[in-house]
Amino acid sequence: MIARSTIGRTARGFATLLLAAAVAVSTSVNAFAQGVPVVRDAEIEALVRDYARPIFKAAGLANDGIDIVLVNDQSFNAFVTGRRLFINTGALVTAETPNEIIGVIAHEAGHIAGGHQQKLRDQLDRAKTMAIIATLLGAGAIVAGATTNSRGLAGAGMGVAAGGGEMAQRSILAYQRGEEITADRSAITYLNATGQSGMGMLKTFGRFQSALSLSGTQLDPYRISHPMPQERIANLEVLVKASPYVNQVDPPALQQRHDMMRIKIAAYMQGQAAVSRLMRKNPTSLASRYGDAQQTYLYGNPAAALAKTAALIKEQPKNPYFQELRGDILMKVNKPKDAADAYAKAVSLDPARSGLLLVSLGQALMAVGTPDSLKRAVTQLNNGIGRDKENAEAYRYLAQAYGELGEIPAADLATAEGHFYSADYKDAKIFAMRAQQKLKRGEPGWLRAQDIINYTPSNKLK
Ligand SMILES: [Zn+2]
Repeated sequence: MIARSTIGRTARGFATLLLAAAVAVSTSVNAFAQGVPVVRDAEIEALVRDYARPIFKAAGLANDGIDIVLVNDQSFNAFVTGRRLFINTGALVTAETPNEIIGVIAHEAGHIAGGHQQKLRDQLDRAKTMAIIATLLGAGAIVAGATTNSRGLAGAGMGVAAGGGEMAQRSILAYQRGEEITADRSAITYLNATGQSGMGMLKTFGRFQSALSLSGTQLDPYRISHPMPQERIANLEVLVKASPYVNQVDPPALQQRHDMMRIKIAAYMQGQAAVSRLMRKNPTSLASRYGDAQQTYLYGNPAAALAKTAALIKEQPKNPYFQELRGDILMKVNKPKDAADAYAKAVSLDPARSGLLLVSLGQALMAVGTPDSLKRAVTQLNNGIGRDKENAEAYRYLAQAYGELGEIPAADLATAEGHFYSADYKDAKIFAMRAQQKLKRGEPGWLRAQDIINYTPSNKLK
């Protein structure tokens, strides 16, 4: 299941809509990342983490605990802040091979390892200052022109303003050119160290360099932040072709996971025409049949979707995400007990230990609704949160489960956490105070409530 974080209600089934911005509250996330529309999906997060892990390791960056943040945006973009890799679903669905995404990740890792982020921010600040000065100069000249009632001087004023802006821009580009070349070189080093080709990176950057980007009329943010002059592409090409791994292709199993990811994004985010487009090339491939099962679940007949999913499971019995899809379908047809079994299987098969699958299991157990299954739901939701502690939606289910069990202080605290990780600090504090009234002073729950009450958001946009 792909879950979107947007504002609003929570709905089971098709796609879970949840409150925004688990990322917004983390202190490690930069202000500019606040408010990004996030999507959560165990399968895609695991795959992108598998792409990133060897590269991050080769770059000497933290090789564990890389957070993958999937941004629900059809344009091409990818950027890294600290240990978080932000990547647009548009980039994932555009890339035909894992290598294309791995190349972009390698380039971004080059920026982090080179400490470029901080410098870029300083540079942008300076550029902003320069632009302000330019504007002031221009405005001053216009005023001067106006007072002498001379059109010529007013025109000169405009010229100063435009010139100032351009100067600021040129200064950024000059700086960026150096950083980009460094990041390209670092990327090739990491790709070589991991025995991978740079052809995917070259393909992606080459595409940006050409006048038409794949997303057509849309301007890709990545393209704007990454100037791709001919010279840079030419230099990169030399490096890529000199690598002993230039002709290395992605392992077939990884390519298959990539194909399945693309079709999943198409099914959940883009609709049936996009799925058909991806299926056309090879209608009988596993990925095509996965896409077919998903769109049958989303837009068609659940019984047919179950049959198609059963066939997938028969072919890859150890694929946790086929079990997850089976669970989603069973939830839709109101068979929570069977859904819980499917999710439990997904959890046991999941090498990536995703908290999301545990939360789905918890939801199914809640829907079963017996006191025993509610207790098990609490356990599984807490396990899920243990792996994924900023999952605001999971706290909301946990609060509901505690509430149904009559454990009100725990329910209030979970509600507080849910608000907290949705960056709704006012309501978080209200519920934390409510929880404290019924908790023993100094016990862990009371202390956590106190943390929430004391919290002041420090990383807000100016
Ligand atoms: Zn770059």
